[in-house]
Amino acid sequence: MNENHTLEHLMKKADVRSYDCYQCGKCSGGCPMAEGMDLGPRGIMRSAQIGALDSILNSSTIWLCSGCYACVDRCPHDVNVPAFIEEARYEAMRRGIVRRDSEVLNRTFLANIRAFGRSHEMLLAAFYNIFALKPTQDLTSLPHMISKKLIPIKPDPIRGVGDVQAIIARAERLDKLVKEVRE
Ligand code: SF4
Ligand code: SF4
Repeated sequence: MNENHTLEHLMKKADVRSYDCYQCGKCSGGCPMAEGMDLGPRGIMRSAQIGALDSILNSSTIWLCSGCYACVDRCPHDVNVPAFIEEARYEAMRRGIVRRDSEVLNRTFLANIRAFGRSHEMLLAAFYNIFALKPTQDLTSLPHMISKKLIPIKPDPIRGVGDVQAIIARAERLDKLVKEVRE
């Protein structure tokens, strides 16, 4: 399958047609993650229109999309951008295209939830900075956050940590099954 066919196939699976998008930009205007994204939802659709699958698969956008569907709500043509983004994310994973920072954030966040049943921001930030090779990122805001008690210093695990671990294990098994079915 050549790149154009792959792109068409992904769009078909997501039930999205690139010509439905007329680049009004309302999706990117309402996307809560747009600030950190390179393409944003409008850019994803533009790349699809010009056949730039490579830009889509290598973008930060496909890893930062939270699937909140704010873009779909705002779109005058109901273009389901997150469904297409999800297909693009699977295609990127199939090709082994994984952004290091996103992968590190996913892993450190999950490790945190596994250990405490909820996120402990200080440890999450510390491990993320170390493994993402960004040791000084956000360091200057730390004293202010501690002095205002915005983040706790010590982790405060929930009572049902074991239950959370069981949920994560089930989700991982399901994720593995979904991947096997898609391959
Ligand atoms: S809101 Fe809809 S039509 Fe407008 S740019 Fe976004 S996807 Fe395209
Ligand atoms: S679903 Fe994704 S692209 Fe759409 S608004 Fe939410 S984060 Fe942005």
